[in-house]
Amino acid sequence: MSSDLDVDLRSDTVTTPSTAMREAAAVADVGDDVYRDDPTVNELESRAAEMVGMEAALYVPSGTMGNQIAVHTHAEPGDELLVERESHIYRWELGGAASLSGVQTRPIDAGDRGVPTPDQVREGIVERDLHRPGTGLCALENTHNYRGGAAIGKSAIDAAATAAHDHAVPVHVDGARIFNAAVALDVDASDLLERVDSVMFCLSKGLGAPVGSMLAGPAAFIEEARRVRKLFGGGMRQAGMIAAPGLCALENVDRLADDHANAARLAEGLEELPGLSTSDPDTNIVVVDVEGAGRTAAEFASACADAGVGCVEFGRRTVRFTTHLDVDRGDVETALERIEGIVG
Ligand SMILES: *Cc1c(COP(=O)(O)O)cnc(C)c1O
Repeated sequence: MSSDLDVDLRSDTVTTPSTAMREAAAVADVGDDVYRDDPTVNELESRAAEMVGMEAALYVPSGTMGNQIAVHTHAEPGDELLVERESHIYRWELGGAASLSGVQTRPIDAGDRGVPTPDQVREGIVERDLHRPGTGLCALENTHNYRGGAAIGKSAIDAAATAAHDHAVPVHVDGARIFNAAVALDVDASDLLERVDSVMFCLSKGLGAPVGSMLAGPAAFIEEARRVRKLFGGGMRQAGMIAAPGLCALENVDRLADDHANAARLAEGLEELPGLSTSDPDTNIVVVDVEGAGRTAAEFASACADAGVGCVEFGRRTVRFTTHLDVDRGDVETALERIEGIVG
């Protein structure tokens, strides 16, 4: 761990590549991926597509770029993008839909779990006419980061997607952590995505790769997305050097269950501490309300950092802890002891 924290629970993006990943990078077969000549990238794209049950996939530098390419490819300038009020695409991507694609967002509040009901989808969709732009895309998120890593089940996704499709609106899933959802729900990711049109997932979060995300969907969609990736400056050359660790990362799906068990233990331990309140996590994200401890979230996160434990300010009174590949049960117990020292 390269930060000066003893237990870094700020995000599942802080993992550093394993020896196997570094070795895979060193020996990777490479070529110019803009010419589609990189065999390692090609293999990563076909394995990724298969794992999410889509025809094709595209390797992109980041999850944000994958989502924004999806918006640009599905929607036209002036279109509306139907999003959840607390979604990553809407809140944490710098207004990219507006600035990169000329798309305006219509945020809806889907409540605790962040998945809109079919009625909410229907109410949010705008039919194109002389005055109104029309909805070009509906975006869902699974797991839902800001809603505490909620794992959204197949029936809820299918129902929202069907409601959108009834109005000829395509559906994109921001599945940065789709495999966390699949493991928590004990289903294949491809089942969760059966009814949607495209998905982005991150290699660089719980799966532990140093860089990269995948955008997957129908072959014609991915062909156009490849042009948009170039437009956004994401066309890469001998990208097999970073795609090779990405292939190793695809082997890390099943072990996400360990992260979920560690998150459950962390939540249980935090709940016992004075002034802290949390709920049972679905996956690897634990959101804790710290108001009862008499501190703002920023003050609490900074006290944790001083004690060697990393977490992030999430809301004014909430902080987020995220378990991952580089923390084990012992680290979780250490974090709990340190935090007890702060609030106890
Ligand atoms: C992290 C994240 C992204 C963006 O991924 P980056 O690789 O950090 O750009 C998108 N959506 C969700 C839900 C995320 O958690």
